[in-house]
Amino acid sequence: MAELEKVTGRCLCGAVAFTAKNVEPHFDVCHCSMCRRWSGGVMMAVEAKGGVDFSGEENIGLFRASDWGERGFCKICGTNLFWRMQDGSYVGVAYGALDNAGDFEFTTEIFIDHKPDAYAFEGDRKQMTEADVLAAFAAPPAEGYVQ
Ligand SMILES: [Zn+2]
Ligand SMILES: [Zn+2]
Repeated sequence: MAELEKVTGRCLCGAVAFTAKNVEPHFDVCHCSMCRRWSGGVMMAVEAKGGVDFSGEENIGLFRASDWGERGFCKICGTNLFWRMQDGSYVGVAYGALDNAGDFEFTTEIFIDHKPDAYAFEGDRKQMTEADVLAAFAAPPAEGYVQ
């Protein structure tokens, strides 16, 4: 599928809106304990290869749960907006915050070995364990991909 030049989204209250640039039309799910706690479910993320432009940027709170990652959220309504590497080499915006989520395919689940048995997504797709993720992003600090 073709890359999407611009993808828009916003938080629940509308204080923060964003335009993600150069987006592949698929999303990934992370089952790690940090993403589950942060999101209240699972983190569903769409990679913005061209970065993200924000409006209402002053309303974004940032939280560093690890030495390499940074999580952004709306300080007013609490919507989870993005996970990014602190060095800017990766930014994944929250799939659930997109305006047109229907254009995306669900292609990958990561930290599948951290998923509780109580739920599972239907269908087949690429699944990566923590070890797979660490191997794929071998050089630190990228080994903390979506943590
Ligand atoms: Zn908000
Ligand atoms: Zn995670």
